Amino acid sequence: MTDSADYIVVGAGSAGAVVAARLSENPAVRVTLIEAGRRERHPLLAMPIAFPMVMADKRFNWSYEGEPEPFANDRRLRQPRGKGLGGSSLINGMLYARGHPRDYDEWRQLGLEGWDWDSVLPFFKKSENHWGPADRYHARGGPLTVTKHIPDDRLFPRFIEAVTKLGYKTQQDHHGSDQEGWGSPDISIHGGRRGSTSARFLYPAMKRPNLTVITKAHATRIEVQNGRATALHYRKDGQEHRLVAEHEIVLSGGAYNTPQLLLLSGIGPADELRKLGIDVVHDLPGVGRNLQDHPSVALVWPADRSVTLTDELRFDRLALSVLQWALTGKGRIANMPVTANGFIKTRAELERPDAQCLFQPTSILARPWFPGIKAPQADVIAMACVLLRPEGRGWVKLASADPAAKPRILSNVLSTENDRPPHRSPRWSRARRSPGPRSAPPPRSTPGCASSSAPRCIRWEAARWEPARKRCAMRGCGSAGSTGCGLPTPRSCRVSSAAIPMPRRS
Ligand SMILES: Cc1cc2nc3c(=O)[nH]c(=O)nc-3n(C[C@H](O)[C@H](O)[C@H](O)COP(=O)(O)OP(=O)(O)OC[C@H]3O[C@@H](n4cnc5c(N)ncnc54)[C@H](O)[C@@H]3O)c2cc1C
Repeated sequence: MTDSADYIVVGAGSAGAVVAARLSENPAVRVTLIEAGRRERHPLLAMPIAFPMVMADKRFNWSYEGEPEPFANDRRLRQPRGKGLGGSSLINGMLYARGHPRDYDEWRQLGLEGWDWDSVLPFFKKSENHWGPADRYHARGGPLTVTKHIPDDRLFPRFIEAVTKLGYKTQQDHHGSDQEGWGSPDISIHGGRRGSTSARFLYPAMKRPNLTVITKAHATRIEVQNGRATALHYRKDGQEHRLVAEHEIVLSGGAYNTPQLLLLSGIGPADELRKLGIDVVHDLPGVGRNLQDHPSVALVWPADRSVTLTDELRFDRLALSVLQWALTGKGRIANMPVTANGFIKTRAELERPDAQCLFQPTSILARPWFPGIKAPQADVIAMACVLLRPEGRGWVKLASADPAAKPRILSNVLSTENDRPPHRSPRWSRARRSPGPRSAPPPRSTPGCASSSAPRCIRWEAARWEPARKRCAMRGCGSAGSTGCGLPTPRSCRVSSAAIPMPRRS
């Protein structure tokens, strides 16, 4: 079957759902959005507290697994990616986090016109419905509601007291004039429900007659004629379809699937494509290279039940909370487990934070429990520390020429000397020596990444290099850069980040 659209958007995730919604604001253009997943309606997806469960649920997830990581003990890292309208915003941690202004200015210096801070800030504001007043950095009334996490009164004050004693700054607004410091996080939650890009941008736009959304449609190839992308091929319900692009094809399948689709279309490193029997349409060595991921180290400590989430996860109490949430949109279910967010410098001399740490009164493994039927997980407090500007570069390659095969992914986490030392830097060492308020019981050993001696609320020693390499380091789910992002470096991919330019109709 052949059809046509002015704009074809491939992938309805964080990017694609917004792009399709924005493009279709112009009633004169016809937009077709192609999504491999479905429109998901599962109630868990709307519940902020259920994030650890939906993140691991294969129904909404491509569930990729990486190649053995040479600098992380050859472990294969889980690579979750959301599948369905909303993409990874269906299953992500909902933490609203802009980059540092310098990050965008550096993109501009690398050659990306229009991506400097002054150029992108108006777009952040255009999307935003901010919890605070409208000012130079924030706006109200946009589709994306940014809520302030409601801090708990048991752990949050003690935690803030501890980090303050350790010399860290506190921060009310990480997206204002200064990013650095610890505070309660900003989250994409609207009316107590997950603010996925499908919920906040796409579903309202789907009322427009000029926007067509095709779900369970797997894009398999971009057709190129005379150097122009002219059509998209996709598979739906076992049938092959061809959709002609009158104006432009926007690729927003994410950091793994976008290079996969380009490679399947014969756009990529010629030698690699030939080995798989794929006709080379355009030899672009940068496709699938330059994959950037944020290594994350999970730290877990035993803690008193009085400060953990365990009691609230008891099934009967949870059921009442679900009822409260369904009726009012409020309560425990409507809040994220993450208590504190810190953008910190791992070395004092840095000009901007290089790590983001998320502190919570439970671990990612916590699940509902009931006495005598299912035991609770151990009482723990936990922290995930994410390196924000890793130097390590990985890749995405095809495993085969079959579009249904999963791509091969190597993040190369911890592959450079600079990506390793945050866990043994002077600033972190100072934290180890300094006293902090006690919120954990006498130390005991817990499996996995737990420290065997963590009597204080904050101790960092579990993140030393060896445990990180062997067990704790994982990817931070923020992968990017694998299609070259349009940078004008000679050997990188020259396809612009999302769009393959098409001739304008006269
Ligand atoms: C578990 C997890 C937690 C995270 N937590 C946070 C967080 O708290 N805060 C934060 O800012 N970021 C977080 N992130 C990162 C953030 O969610 C992603 O960076 C972002 O969603 C990526 O957006 P995207 O549009 O590039 O890709 P995605 O949102 O992944 O969208 C890609 C879409 O394309 C579709 N697709 C792929 N291939 C095809 C094909 N061949 N044909 C048709 N459709 C296709 C997919 O099904 C998907 O819907 C998290 C990510 C994950 C996975």
